[in-house]
Amino acid sequence: MSHISKSRLTQKQLDAHWMAYSGNRQFKQDPRLIESAKGHYYTDIDGRKIFDGLSGLWTCGLGHNVPQINEAITKQVNTLDYSPAFQFGHEKSFLLAEKITEFMPSELNRIFFTGSGSESVDTALKVARAYWRKKGKGTKTKFIGRAKGYHGAGISGFSVGGIAANRTLYGQGLESYHLPHTQTPGTEFSKGMPEMGAERAEALLDLITMHDASNIAAVIVEPMSGSAGVIIPPKGYLDRLREICDQHDILLIFDEVITAFGRMGARTGSEAFGVTPDIITMAKQVTNGIVPMGAVAFKQEIYDTFMETAGAEHMLELPHGYTYSAHPLACAAGLATLDIIQKEQLADRVKEISGNWEYAVHSLRDADSMITDIRNYGFAAGLSIAANEGDASKRPFQIAMSMWDKGYYVRYGGDTIQLAPPFTVEQPEIDSLINALADTLKEIN
Ligand code: PMP
Repeated sequence: MSHISKSRLTQKQLDAHWMAYSGNRQFKQDPRLIESAKGHYYTDIDGRKIFDGLSGLWTCGLGHNVPQINEAITKQVNTLDYSPAFQFGHEKSFLLAEKITEFMPSELNRIFFTGSGSESVDTALKVARAYWRKKGKGTKTKFIGRAKGYHGAGISGFSVGGIAANRTLYGQGLESYHLPHTQTPGTEFSKGMPEMGAERAEALLDLITMHDASNIAAVIVEPMSGSAGVIIPPKGYLDRLREICDQHDILLIFDEVITAFGRMGARTGSEAFGVTPDIITMAKQVTNGIVPMGAVAFKQEIYDTFMETAGAEHMLELPHGYTYSAHPLACAAGLATLDIIQKEQLADRVKEISGNWEYAVHSLRDADSMITDIRNYGFAAGLSIAANEGDASKRPFQIAMSMWDKGYYVRYGGDTIQLAPPFTVEQPEIDSLINALADTLKEIN
């Protein structure tokens, strides 16, 4: 089916935009254009309603066009549209920082603002290195990431990231080494946290033996890997990473760009899985995806180290930041978003309903034998799809396109289909999404 009949775009216009993380050649032959969004649905340019099965890009847990957020942004743009991010401030950034600390583990109470998840990762890694320098341990510069990890599109993010397709083209990055991922044989179709696989954390000890803790600044992992297809940590895995990092004076960074602010049925992945890192990166849901923004939460001790070791008071303690750090529109959107999540107790709602979500998602197991694994936690799920004649991503692509034709947006990546409904999703919407997927799986071969 051709998706578009009403596009007014010329080929020249289509060609002018080099689209992010997209198959440009395929898209431009058959563009899928979204015209508007409201609640849990997009409307495409043909006027078709499309259910948002990934909450944007894990961004819009509150759905689209949320009146309180729109009003907050409108009011803000008419009051203070931009303010210099350096050396001068505006009140909302301080209010938002305090609000974010209400979601973070209590020790992580110092918030640095960025413009995206990638910038948050870059900030966390830079601060980790600088922190050790401040402590007189300047040789601690290497990083440990994890296979299948995604930490953004920057040079630092791809270095610590472990998704091969996002790495192979770019050559040398930061000096980084990788833990094995935690998808272990025998854990397929686990519900929630797998029982097996925690021993994979021991690989950190091997990396420490190889590189020596005196050279390692930080370990960075997503508590739940999102982009690799929703990989849930095995029970005890994150706890063991924490233990080893403590024993060897290595900072532990949780990249919570997807998991913070409710998706795990808790305020953070840290809370959901009961392990407190030293640094948390976040973005996406902090503003409901409406205005780009990222942030990084640090343990106070890290912040204090910079404050205590800087020179005269007018000196910068950390020469780092972005033109769009603490952008007033993002701060207004963030305050409105986090206010709704708290007042409507949406993290609790996700937790309560996640059992129904789990049941629905795992019902797909019988839909077709091409599903080789189903994983879920909170309002997230990943399906692994068997490769077709050695091509891992062809079927996931076909499934996502067929779902779009049926009126459902889901994401494909590698050999997986990823699902992440809005926090406010209703049961009939879950049912119709899963039924459409079951039908689609029967059609694809
Ligand atoms: N870290 C994680 C865990 C992510 O999922 C993402 C985005 N999917 C990023 C970092 C990068 O965020 P951004 O695209 O906003 O730069």
